[in-house]
Amino acid sequence: MITFEKLKKNKVAFLVALVYLILLAFFPEKGVEALNRTKYFLLEMVQILPVIFMFTVVIEAWIPKEVIVKKFGDNSGFSGNALSLLLGSISAGPIYAAFPIAKMLLKKGASITNIVIILSSWAVIKVPMLANEAKFLGAEFMAVRWILTVISILVMGYLISLIVKKEDLPGLDSLERTKKLFEINEDYCIGCAICAKIAPKIFAMVDDKAKINSIPTDQLEIELVLASVDKCPTKAIIFENYETGSE
Ligand code: SF4
Repeated sequence: MITFEKLKKNKVAFLVALVYLILLAFFPEKGVEALNRTKYFLLEMVQILPVIFMFTVVIEAWIPKEVIVKKFGDNSGFSGNALSLLLGSISAGPIYAAFPIAKMLLKKGASITNIVIILSSWAVIKVPMLANEAKFLGAEFMAVRWILTVISILVMGYLISLIVKKEDLPGLDSLERTKKLFEINEDYCIGCAICAKIAPKIFAMVDDKAKINSIPTDQLEIELVLASVDKCPTKAIIFENYETGSE
């Protein structure tokens, strides 16, 4: 039986079904065409998504969280942006295949900016697409569009990261949510390197400031970070509500 709660929970699906019914009732030809297109896309998704889910699981299991944080995290800088651009550009498959991968990368510590860059480059500057574009519209057209699109993608990535925070996104596990509380306040850091001596795997000194090199992944590393927090003369290390149980 269809209850109000069910309707509310699946409002988009019910809305789509309603549109189909209206189309079939008043514009049967359009309704049948819409159903055929839906069938085509559903069949395509059934073929592609299992492969993508397997690929996602393999990355999740094989690539350590520290690697994702380092390569695609908040402190990955321009090299993280460039790597994200490359990853999106060389990927294959429709854009919806990118979403499970993006979610997995977010959960493992990728930044919002880099996720936007991966999704956007996946959608509009994939390498096979560029090759076809050059063939039909010319290399110059393709090159100019590529340059302007890349600039737009980078600007969009940074703007979205200012508006959307990870806490706003559904389904990120508690480790990812609490990871945000592991930070170094650069304004307070005096570069004494005590933290890097206590936990050299976790902290690194760059330009006389402490940086997070990797996040702690076990109890021993958490205790080393706690010791660093304790010894930091300026209390520059923020490390709160950290848990490892969800890994
Ligand atoms: S102990 Fe504090 S001030 Fe010293 S390097 Fe670490 S974060 Fe910077």
